[in-house]
Amino acid sequence: MNDNLHQLRCFGCGARIAGADAQPHFRCAQCGELFEVEYPGWNQKKGPDRPNAGALKWLWRERRSSLEGVDQSGVWRFRELLPILDSFGNAVTLREGNTPLYHLPRAAQALGMDQLFAKHQGMNPSGSFKDTGMTAALSVAKERGFEWVACASTGNTSAAMAAYAARAGLRSLVLIPEGKIAWGKLSQAMDYGAVTCQLKTDFDGCLSLLTQIVREAPIYLLNSVNPYRLEGQKTPAFEIAEAFDWNLPDHVIVPGGNLGNSSALGKGFREMVELGLVARMPKISVIQAAGANPLARSFAENGGKSLEPVAANTRATAIRIGNPASWRKAAKAIQETGGWCLDVSEGEIAVAKAEIGAEGLGCEPASAVTLAGLKKLRAGGKVAAGDSVVLVLTGHTLKDADYTIDFHKGALLSEEEARGQETQIAGLRRNAVTVEASLQAVLAAMKGTAA
Ligand SMILES: *Cc1c(COP(=O)(O)O)cnc(C)c1O
Repeated sequence: MNDNLHQLRCFGCGARIAGADAQPHFRCAQCGELFEVEYPGWNQKKGPDRPNAGALKWLWRERRSSLEGVDQSGVWRFRELLPILDSFGNAVTLREGNTPLYHLPRAAQALGMDQLFAKHQGMNPSGSFKDTGMTAALSVAKERGFEWVACASTGNTSAAMAAYAARAGLRSLVLIPEGKIAWGKLSQAMDYGAVTCQLKTDFDGCLSLLTQIVREAPIYLLNSVNPYRLEGQKTPAFEIAEAFDWNLPDHVIVPGGNLGNSSALGKGFREMVELGLVARMPKISVIQAAGANPLARSFAENGGKSLEPVAANTRATAIRIGNPASWRKAAKAIQETGGWCLDVSEGEIAVAKAEIGAEGLGCEPASAVTLAGLKKLRAGGKVAAGDSVVLVLTGHTLKDADYTIDFHKGALLSEEEARGQETQIAGLRRNAVTVEASLQAVLAAMKGTAA
């Protein structure tokens, strides 16, 4: 049976092509824009290829108790909404997705809110949301007969790609900026057997070099310019809807780096509305680091109509991207839902990360921009006390343990960066103290910390 019902549509000029014709670099030959996966059968009001909303909700939940890998995957259990493979039997899965949605009681109270949640995508097999996209795009690579896959990465894409390539028995090539990725991520790429090249350039430099390489060699490109990545990354939108019993929250807040994730979630929510699974989209807001904020600048200056690349610099290495590939798609998601795009400082990111840690969850620095951004939106009157808000936590706290330890030692932020937040930082810091191995010394250490 052929499960494949898709075509690609250029996000710029609207040209339509067959899936395999966008290789090797996934840019439109007419206008240079990115492609988006489209399912022509969904446009018929009725017809054999148009999914039935009521039946799907039941089926998707039922699959959670199945013993099949494609059913246990939180991506492929929604496979009716991503018919991108000739056969779903070709799916390469590590049982990604099905991540928890947690209430954040302390952060909610501090913000005078009640309905504040975290969708923790760091609870995926390789520790970031990239797994949801990688299972989709790598399965396509495998089905199309590629032996090599490659990506440029700020770290998590390479960790995810290397893991899925290893599962599929494919070789993988990783290009990363030297010294600018977290050790946890680099170690994963090596552990899973990727050929890992550290280059003396930034992420944007790695990606442009890789674009040349895939023209010369039969390698399948797995950066988020690949539209199949976004098909997998849209499925957390379905999970959020399901967790809210198909009555979506008011607002979903996402970190913005290369802007594939926010684009994908926008697509997921949009398709659910089109298919009658939910009544409306939530507001989608994208938060960037102030040192890597091209989209936030674009929104401040011209409402997201054009974008000037910037030289990116932030300790939140996963979003250290100055020339985001998917910015037009992300801008559309923000504009059509009435969300916002803001940036937050290094100090605000560090405080928000420690607050998420203090909820017993933890996340990597790039994920914490969501809470930092929510505080700003709340202070600016954009989010009301009664709104329900979901923060998308994109990566696991162990990805960048150095950052956490430096924060708690007081070695992370400069005086300048900490200015105005000294009290919060002092209340959050938990420096590991060295004391004598005696009962009294440990009891004294416990007393010495404010509750
Ligand atoms: C990749 C990544 C991001 C940025 O996502 P984009 O799709 O590039 O915007 C944010 N946080 C983490 C942890 C990531 O790995």
